[in-house]
Amino acid sequence: MRATVMYGAGDVRIENAPDPKIVEPTDAVIRVTRACVCGSDLWPYQKMERSDTGRVMGHEAIGVVEDVGADVRTIKRGDFVIMPFAFSDGTCLFCHDGLQTSCIHGGFFGTTEVAGAQAEAVRIPLADGTLFPVGARADEALMASLLTLSDVMGTGHHAAVMANVTQGKSAAVVGDGAVGLCGVIAAKRLGAEQIIILGRHADRIALAKDFGATDVVSERGDAAVERVRELTGGYGVHSVLECVGLEQAVDTAIAIARPGGAVGRVGVPQEQTIPGSEPAFYNNVTVGGGPAPVRAYIEDLLPDVLEGKIAPGRVFDRTVGLDGVPEGYRAMNDREAIKVMVTP
Ligand SMILES: [Zn+2]
Repeated sequence: MRATVMYGAGDVRIENAPDPKIVEPTDAVIRVTRACVCGSDLWPYQKMERSDTGRVMGHEAIGVVEDVGADVRTIKRGDFVIMPFAFSDGTCLFCHDGLQTSCIHGGFFGTTEVAGAQAEAVRIPLADGTLFPVGARADEALMASLLTLSDVMGTGHHAAVMANVTQGKSAAVVGDGAVGLCGVIAAKRLGAEQIIILGRHADRIALAKDFGATDVVSERGDAAVERVRELTGGYGVHSVLECVGLEQAVDTAIAIARPGGAVGRVGVPQEQTIPGSEPAFYNNVTVGGGPAPVRAYIEDLLPDVLEGKIAPGRVFDRTVGLDGVPEGYRAMNDREAIKVMVTP
C-alpha cells in the first residue's frame, strides 16, 4: 500500500509500505476512505530530527473494516467506522471513566511504534475498544464532519468541557486553527452567550463567526488581553479554550480568564512548564486539559453531526489524494489552508 512517511522536518514522502496485517487477535485493519493532516502534525514537520526509518503519519481517519482478528467481538468486516486518534481497550478503569487517552493498554496512531492513517490502510490495535461504528451508512455530504470526530471536533469539545463552558456565560477561544474553530462550535453548542475568537486570519475568522463567534480579537499579547477585558466589562471571560500550545498563547489564555474562571488546554504544549502560574494562582483560575478522549465524545457529538445541527467538516478547505499530502503539509504550515483532507 501507499503511505505518508515523514523522515525529518519538512521531509514528507509518499512511499510503498507493507500492507497492514492482523498482528494481535484483537486487531482490525481498515481501508482508509478519508484521512487528514492535523495541526499537531506540523510540530514534527517543523522540528522532527532526521530518521532513517521514518514515521508513517496520520491519526485521524474514517474507513471501512477489511479484516478483524479472532478475538474481535463487536467490530465486523464491512463496518463503516470512525478511528479516534488514540487506541484504547474500552475496558480498563480509565476507559470506564471516559478517559480513553489514558487507557493502560492504549497509545496513539502515527507514532514510531504504531503506523498512522495518512495511508491506504491502517492496522487498528484493540479494535473493539478503539473503533466507533457509525450505524447508518452515512451520506457522502457528512463525511468531512464525521472525519472531524476522530480528532478536531472532539478536541475542541474537550477544551470547552475542561474550560467549564456554561449556558449563558462568556467564553474565549485562543487559536483560529481547525481545533479552535471546532472549539467555537463546542462553546456555542454548550450554550455560551459571548464567544470571543482570538485569531488573525480573515478566512478563519469568517468561519468562526459562522460557527457562532460573537467577537473577534486580532491583537496579540498584552493588547489582546486588554481588548478581551474591554469586551467583558473589564474582568475577562468565564471560560478559555486554549487551542495553540505555544507559551504566549497559554499566557494569554490565563490572563484573559476572569477570577474563578477556567482554562481548557488542548494545544499540544511546546514547553515543559505552564506559563501564567502567578495570575492563575491569584485569580483562582483552574487550568486543565490534555489529549481529548474523543472516543468518549463521539457518542455525544455524532447525533448532532448526523442531524446537521453542527457542521465541523467546514474546517476542511482543501482536499488532496495521497500524492498531494506533502503539498498539503506545506500549505497548512504556511497557513494557506486551514485543514487538508486526504482521500487515499
Ligand atoms: Zn483502557
